[in-house]
Amino acid sequence: MTATLIDGRVVAQSLRAELAARIATLSFRPGLAVVLVGDDPASAVYVRNKDRAAVSAGIAAQTIRLPAATSQAELLAVVARLNADAEVDGILVQLPLPAGLDQAAIIRAIDPAKDVDGLTPINAGLLAAGQPGLVACTPLGVMKLLAHAGTSLSGARAVVLGRSVLVGKPVAALLLAADATVTIAHSRTRNLQAECRRADVLVAAVGRAEMVRGDWIAEGCVLIDVGINRLADGRLVGDAAFAECAAVAGAITPVPGGVGPMTIACLLENTLTAALMRRTG
Ligand code: NDP
Repeated sequence: MTATLIDGRVVAQSLRAELAARIATLSFRPGLAVVLVGDDPASAVYVRNKDRAAVSAGIAAQTIRLPAATSQAELLAVVARLNADAEVDGILVQLPLPAGLDQAAIIRAIDPAKDVDGLTPINAGLLAAGQPGLVACTPLGVMKLLAHAGTSLSGARAVVLGRSVLVGKPVAALLLAADATVTIAHSRTRNLQAECRRADVLVAAVGRAEMVRGDWIAEGCVLIDVGINRLADGRLVGDAAFAECAAVAGAITPVPGGVGPMTIACLLENTLTAALMRRTG
């Protein structure tokens, strides 16, 4: 391996410690409500991790568990109650929601000032317009890792693999705001490999195990791997073939231990940001 390892666990840990120290100085405890509908095992693990991390940072966290059979109206009523609760600064509805629920309508119902996942159209629109708002946690984590790695973004060629509302689009908007020249590639992109090879910075968010191979990337490129894919043998891998890419890249994130821990740390940061905006104006 020749690439520098960008260790998301270390960066996330120091961000979490910094947030805990800042929260300890406040005269109130920021509140976070996480809503989990149904019993998807992966979602249950994510929610438990978020709850623990929030509590250890000094955030008053609550998890609202609802049965898979919850109706749209019932879930909207829960969101409305949390919107109106003065002690709740951040609301996160864990995705994906069970089939039958209109995910977009639920997200739209969240008060944008409490939207710590940055997914409401208001916050997504503010990001697209280059104005301050709450930014989606995973994209925020990607940018913090790039900053930690000392990556120079101004004028750099950045390629984002994936155009989801959750990851690809907001990452691209943030890279553009940082003055990179951004290409967004997706399943219809012609000659994906050639697009990737042009990248000084490559962010892979496709959800395809080890799709990006060593000969897809330019020597010295910075590769941020957002993908989390579980193989049949139980191993977790990213969207890039790690060993091959680490032999070519200048810097690379591992999976697990790269972007994943940053997502949770950024959720805590967004909760503090939302609390300060709401409570101190
Ligand atoms: P989505 O499935 O919503 O989006 C995937 C994107 O990748 C789409 O834009 C799709 O293109 C594109 N894509 C799929 N297959 C190909 C292909 N063969 N070639 C080129 N592009 C392709 O996924 P998410 O954005 O939600 O997540 C992406 C990955 O990141 C997943 O592995 C997910 O588990 C992980 N993730 C990790 C997080 C973390 O904390 N580390 C948080 C969130 C997600 P098209 O639009 O054309 O269909």
